Amino acid sequence: MNLCPACEKPLLARYDLTEAARTLTRDSLAKRESSLWRYEEVLPIQTRAAQIRLGEGWTPLLHAQALGEEIGCPNTLIKDESLNPTGSFKARGLVMAVGRAFELGATELAIPSAGNAAGALSAYAAKVGLPAHVYMPQDVPSAFRVECSNLGAEVTLVDGLITDCGAKVREKVAQHGWFDVSTLKEPYRIEGKKTMGYEIWEQLGWQLPDVIFYPTGGGTGLVGMWKAFDEMEQLGLIGGERPRMVSVQSTGCAPIVRAMEQGTEFAEPWEGARSLADGLRVPSAVGDFLMLRAVRESGGTAVAVEDEVMLHEAKRIGRCTGVFPCPEGAATLAAQIQLLESGWLGGDETVVLFNTGSGLKYAHLWA
Ligand SMILES: *Cc1c(COP(=O)(O)O)cnc(C)c1O
Repeated sequence: MNLCPACEKPLLARYDLTEAARTLTRDSLAKRESSLWRYEEVLPIQTRAAQIRLGEGWTPLLHAQALGEEIGCPNTLIKDESLNPTGSFKARGLVMAVGRAFELGATELAIPSAGNAAGALSAYAAKVGLPAHVYMPQDVPSAFRVECSNLGAEVTLVDGLITDCGAKVREKVAQHGWFDVSTLKEPYRIEGKKTMGYEIWEQLGWQLPDVIFYPTGGGTGLVGMWKAFDEMEQLGLIGGERPRMVSVQSTGCAPIVRAMEQGTEFAEPWEGARSLADGLRVPSAVGDFLMLRAVRESGGTAVAVEDEVMLHEAKRIGRCTGVFPCPEGAATLAAQIQLLESGWLGGDETVVLFNTGSGLKYAHLWA
């Protein structure tokens, strides 16, 4: 495992930001490639050969005007991560983890995943020519499983939850010396995910939104964006302003929502986790305290959404915006509506909803 050997908590990458600030400027960014590699000064990859490219990042930030007007929050935008390779934002994290593992000389990669992370690992491992071992819960929808096997990964189905898959991976890693790319168990996935924070700032004309809604499982994106904002301040790109971060979960698995309500530093594992939204079915996350810290420091909150409401709101997003969201993405709209109703949101804020993946791999849910 690649956690801190002293405290067994996640390691986070640090950069010489004074040096980076010399070249990472608004002017230079304007001329760079339309991918997350535009932020190379603040990414961990050291060599060109390990910069794997399948078209990751620089996804559209769409003004969802008709949707916003319908719900009473006209400045609602959707960051559409479904356009990433393998159809989800997991590509951002895995391109970095796989590239760095390759650069460090790893020979085989492994991941426990209920869905999109496995597909992204399989794609990047294929591109760079490393074997990938994927451990998935037995009930994983076939689209996720077939994607991995067609991308050349070795897929093992486990009778249990994602946490049981994690235990299997740990066993195999110890036996065979594979590189474990589990969320926050190596420091690089978060580095890829943080680029979402840089992108929305650039795409909003060098401004941050008032509120970000993020569907939270392991929390890499949320923690990553929060880290990005601190880096951006040190780079002189922004001041001390921050968006309020809203963590969105399923009522069937809401450890972060419960920890927010109880005011605890860590989140208790969620017993009997259930959700149709595979990305949200994470009963316990190593980075729980980092998520809770980010949400609290930002003045944000955490909201749980019923699975049925997600499925329903997915159709509203489809009908109003032309985006076919995954249930996790649709959960952000359901949470936004809840917070408009409760008065936590006023309706005049600029709000970014993260559609973290394509609805296509989940089409069976509406069939
Ligand atoms: C993994 C995943 C999530 C949760 O992301 P984290 O950064 O791990 O919290 C949300 N939506 C989708 C579609 C996912 O695949």
